[in-house]
Amino acid sequence: MIMKGRPVRVAVISDIHANLIAFEAVLAACRPFDVVWCLGDIVGYGPRPRECIALLRSLPYLCVVGNHDYAAIGRLNLDEFNPVAQRATAWTAAALTVDDVSFLTALPNRIIDDPVTLVHGSPRQPVWEYIYDPRTARENFALLDTAICFLGHTHICSVFVEHEVRQGRMRQPRPGDSYQMSEGRALINPGSVGQPRDGDPRAAYAIYDTGAGRVEFGRVEYDIASTQRQMEEAGLPAPLVRRLAIGY
Ligand code: ZN
Repeated sequence: MIMKGRPVRVAVISDIHANLIAFEAVLAACRPFDVVWCLGDIVGYGPRPRECIALLRSLPYLCVVGNHDYAAIGRLNLDEFNPVAQRATAWTAAALTVDDVSFLTALPNRIIDDPVTLVHGSPRQPVWEYIYDPRTARENFALLDTAICFLGHTHICSVFVEHEVRQGRMRQPRPGDSYQMSEGRALINPGSVGQPRDGDPRAAYAIYDTGAGRVEFGRVEYDIASTQRQMEEAGLPAPLVRRLAIGY
């Protein structure tokens, strides 16, 4: 669908978490792009869920569903979440329109468009499983039918190359680093737009150049204080407000 024909420049993003200011900064940093691939958790934690959904839908995009998107539309037992996440989820659910709920409900949990798979969590459990380590990555390659898989969920920018995870290795790319498809099959996490957790508070993204077979990683500063103000005005839990400033 999107991949066939001419080479395209794809903005690969994940875990926006209703942080509109970070989302806008990432889009500006990625321009020009042909399409956005969003790996789930558009909403949850942040102060602007409706606006983030609307902005995504205004662009050419593909999007898979995340666990927080499920939570916001009541398709998840909230006992799975800690109290802070439960409060934020209740706020988000109340903020969404009927149309937003329809949109989130219709999102697929996996998109396969050879040579690429898109999921939120992992090939094995597309919405739920976290891939933090080479061992979990190794197990998931057995379930991957394509050359690369973009995923999110951990909020940590990382690359797991098939032959490297067999040796217990993984990569945590820095801004400007890139991965080439010729290096081997890979699971690729661009990091989080709206709530990074790798100690760098800047919004994270990746650019996939399908013609060159290359994925380049980037970070962009955004006005964290403004997002924090929006969260305070919304009455969202203070720990969620504070963590944005430290990138964890
Ligand atoms: Zn998330």
